[in-house]
Amino acid sequence: KMPVPSDIEISQSCIPKPIDQVAKEVGLLPDEVELYGQTKAKVHLSALKRLKNQPDGKYIVVTGITPTPLGEGKSTTTVGLVQALGAHLHQNVFACVRQPSQGPTFGIKGGAAGGGYCQVIPMDEFNLHLTGDIHAITAANNLVAAAIDARIFHELTQTDQALYNRLVPSVNGVRKFSDIQIRRLQKLGINKTDPTALTKEEVSLFVRLDIDPGTITWQRVLDTNDRFLRKITIGQSPTEKGFSRMAQFDITVSSEIMAVLALSDGLDDMKKRLARMVVASSKRGEPVTADDLGVTGALAVLMKDAVKPNLMQTLEGTPVFVHAGPFANIAHGNSSVLADKIALKLVGKEGFVVTEAGFGADIGMEKFFNIKCRYSGLRPHVVVLVATVRALKMHGGGPAVTAGVPLPKEYMEENLQLLAKGCSNLNKQIQNARMFGVPVVVAVNAFKTDTKAELALVVQLAKEAGAFDAVECTHWAEGGKGAVALAQAVQRASQTPSNFRFLYNVELPIIDKIRLIAQQIYGASDIELLPEAQEKVTLYTKQGFGNLPICMAKTHLSLSHDPEQKGAPTGFILPIRDIRASVGAGFLYPLVGTMSTMPGLPTRPCFYDIDLDPVSGEVYGLF
Ligand code: ADP
Repeated sequence: KMPVPSDIEISQSCIPKPIDQVAKEVGLLPDEVELYGQTKAKVHLSALKRLKNQPDGKYIVVTGITPTPLGEGKSTTTVGLVQALGAHLHQNVFACVRQPSQGPTFGIKGGAAGGGYCQVIPMDEFNLHLTGDIHAITAANNLVAAAIDARIFHELTQTDQALYNRLVPSVNGVRKFSDIQIRRLQKLGINKTDPTALTKEEVSLFVRLDIDPGTITWQRVLDTNDRFLRKITIGQSPTEKGFSRMAQFDITVSSEIMAVLALSDGLDDMKKRLARMVVASSKRGEPVTADDLGVTGALAVLMKDAVKPNLMQTLEGTPVFVHAGPFANIAHGNSSVLADKIALKLVGKEGFVVTEAGFGADIGMEKFFNIKCRYSGLRPHVVVLVATVRALKMHGGGPAVTAGVPLPKEYMEENLQLLAKGCSNLNKQIQNARMFGVPVVVAVNAFKTDTKAELALVVQLAKEAGAFDAVECTHWAEGGKGAVALAQAVQRASQTPSNFRFLYNVELPIIDKIRLIAQQIYGASDIELLPEAQEKVTLYTKQGFGNLPICMAKTHLSLSHDPEQKGAPTGFILPIRDIRASVGAGFLYPLVGTMSTMPGLPTRPCFYDIDLDPVSGEVYGLF
């Protein structure tokens, strides 16, 4: 057998269909499609309205066991499964995947288009700018950041009346409130529309957001792994008159606006979520929102194209939506609700939409169910759980697996003992999926070093652990053909009744919700709230955010909080260091340990291998 060529070589060797042809094949009308060149298009939300009476297709979510730092093939399997269902079994299909961040693409992990003969193409377009959605989020996020500091500065340097004169200027002798100002007045309980009718106290309340700089939770963002921006001092020019403060940059995909994009189900809903985003507290302890800053409309304008899902295709010509890519720890790590909804309508009742949830089933899948499905109202039919022999050996006590370092010999030779021991993790993740009442199909993603006996053992143990079915797949090396058995298992599983249920009721107290996730999903014996987390429980409950779902920010490398603890640890106490709120997106995120929201570049970043041929214009070295 020929060795499998590099991902970019495979991607470039295949000529994609013109994207307007793909759009036509899936049943989109010409005026619902906005072309971005030959291989990408945006799809208008009007398609959802047109198809609203069409029944939804089957909804499949791809998740995984606790991975090694190399990733175990969720994206690859998502693409392989739709290639098998669409190109080999001739079903209507759609894959819905996240847009990758340029941080990892140029940093450690590389791209995220899948791999081998299961990719979204062209993979360079997919991994780089796509249609500019991430740039739009960067712009929107930083507009909010600029608005916060400018507002503090102006409030501190001007009298109430001077502020009022500028905020509500007199044009030809007439003052008029804008819509957003009327909303702010209503929020303050001032039901007046005549700007000359405000009392002195009301003017003061209206003009002063009184942001407490120490409570600002909104950071600037950039889509680059730039570790030196993790802590910065802003406002050092003399023009800012000494109003400097410590701040930080996060990576764009960790912006709350990315999570808002992923969870919105239309323009109106997106505007409401943007308006609700809380950026700080006032000195009186009240939440200050994007709407208070007056920026909601501008944000919606910046995001008006980003809200439309991006249509691309797989190597075998099946359709893909690439839309949103929220960080998987401090956010929920799932692609957009809108892409899933449009895709479910387009495939029709007998079709399949395969969507991917980031990280392992303890994180991405749990959030997919408890956050994404709760907001979208969509109910999944099947969970596909991706497992690899290498990760299971690691869980059985194999040596550490590190990116960029050759795998130790345990991973290159048959070792059924390590493997069987490590299946504790597979078993626990199967139970986690079953807890939601949805049938689980295990996809054993085969690597060339895996032996027949090893693959058979994983299949057997997965079935014993309660999987609906478990199937060996070779799609990475063979394309959709290698996932036909998986696709057939998924078809069968999708015929069985699914008794979907949430893990918790959102009305439970914050602490109870966190404890339920920790005990039921992670295997913890209890949780421990550190003082900062305790304070936030009190603050958010008081501010009225206690009934939001929970988005745990935990390492993906262990079921516990400690990345070194492999397998299925039990009896540990899960420490909750702090809790933050993404009120606009609609969740609270407890921080389990410290979470970096700005990755750094390693000594030898992926960008060393990336190049452009100046003659052909071809891109090299992306993977
Ligand atoms: P995840 O989505 O779980 O992070 P990916 O699908 O991105 O994982 O796969 C991680 C990396 O492993 C990719 O570079 C992919 O090409 C590679 N990979 C996946 N499956 C296989 C396989 N069966 N054999 C060899 N490499 C694989």
